[in-house]
Amino acid sequence: MDFKLSDQQREFQQAARRFAQQELVAVAKDCERTSDPVPDEVRRRMGELGFLGINIPQAYGGLGAGKVDALVVLEELAKVSAAVAFPVFEANCGPAQTLLYFAPEWLKQRVLPRVCSGEMMVSVSMSEPDVGTAMTELKTRAVIKGDRLVINGVKRWCSGAGHAQGYVLYCRLADKPGAAGVGAVYLEKDAPGMSFGKPENFMGVRGFHNAEIYLDDVEVPVENIIVPAGGVKDLMRSFNMERLGNSTCALGIAASALEVALAYTQERQQFGKPLVDFQAVQLRLAEMKIDVEAARLLIHRAAQGAEDGLPSLLDTSVAKCFANEAVRRVVANGAQVMGAVGYSKDYPMEQKMRDAWVWGIGGGHIDLQKVNITGELVGRRFSQR
Ligand SMILES: Cc1cc2nc3c(=O)[nH]c(=O)nc-3n(C[C@H](O)[C@H](O)[C@H](O)COP(=O)(O)OP(=O)(O)OC[C@H]3O[C@@H](n4cnc5c(N)ncnc54)[C@H](O)[C@@H]3O)c2cc1C
Repeated sequence: MDFKLSDQQREFQQAARRFAQQELVAVAKDCERTSDPVPDEVRRRMGELGFLGINIPQAYGGLGAGKVDALVVLEELAKVSAAVAFPVFEANCGPAQTLLYFAPEWLKQRVLPRVCSGEMMVSVSMSEPDVGTAMTELKTRAVIKGDRLVINGVKRWCSGAGHAQGYVLYCRLADKPGAAGVGAVYLEKDAPGMSFGKPENFMGVRGFHNAEIYLDDVEVPVENIIVPAGGVKDLMRSFNMERLGNSTCALGIAASALEVALAYTQERQQFGKPLVDFQAVQLRLAEMKIDVEAARLLIHRAAQGAEDGLPSLLDTSVAKCFANEAVRRVVANGAQVMGAVGYSKDYPMEQKMRDAWVWGIGGGHIDLQKVNITGELVGRRFSQR
């Protein structure tokens, strides 16, 4: 057991920190002001630096390093903002990983090198207007007609919708009820019949570019099937990596909130001494530190435990629940010790508070993850029906 980062992981961390602090701070401000996603040229720069394929094998244009290496980089970018971390999240943890583990070889060859270089980004589209937690009740239907798939339906909340060039689309691939009919298909943005709604107006994570997707007789070859009907188990296995990405974004926000609060409470004086000299402030800072360290350890344990495969449901769910709840506590403590400055849009804590909330909603919300944890403890899944 070794709780220290390896030399290689430390090098990744330093390179990511340098890049994030020098090149992404201004980009993050623009994303926050405009709600626009990271510009294509910045994503290409991330690709040049290798950050879009850290844990993707070299055969597909990546660096072939490990999951912890990728998460260390993601944390550094998430410290600047969730918006600038998003392309690295999607490539190293999100739908690109579903393609890596489950797509046919031709599709991996076609998409992954372009993801790694930053030429394109892939988003994941599961949610629908009537389907959130109950993912196995998807209505979007892909009908197999000879060597073609004809897809109809409406998807909702997709991060990167209309901006990403590729989509891992969860849909119904057979007329079978529940999970037995659900699989996933790969689509590209320019597919005839595919269109996008206006961007959602979320409280935080401005720059994620969420929107509805309308699929109106969209046709793609059957070879675009990533996971056939009944393959939800595989989709959820790769989704555990997405959950560690989600947890790491929460961690990055929490770690940066601690940095901001530490600096401010040492500089700001009341009653003739720095805020940090008051014991109540010391306790809040200590609680923030405990949350950050514990979240990081749980995330890295889940990633390390996966070795060359995918992380386990139990380790991932434990890490995600903790990190998702920890970041909400950390930003609340951070805002409290900063007083009015913590509440002002002219200072960084306010955005961190808004960006902190969502991680416990997406990627399998906290409450369902807890149900999953107990399910793993007793060795059975609890039906939600
Ligand atoms: C910023 C953001 C980005 C997103 N990005 C994407 C994306 O890229 N792709 C995508 O497909 N979707 C995305 N989503 C959607 C996200 O995946 C869903 O919000 C999530 O799956 C929950 O679904 P819902 O919001 O419909 O909540 P509902 O399913 O309506 O549930 C609401 C609440 O009810 C409770 N609840 C529901 N069911 C249960 C249960 N069985 N057990 C216990 N409690 C329960 C929980 O507290 C839950 O939070 C995004 C959402 C946000 C906010």
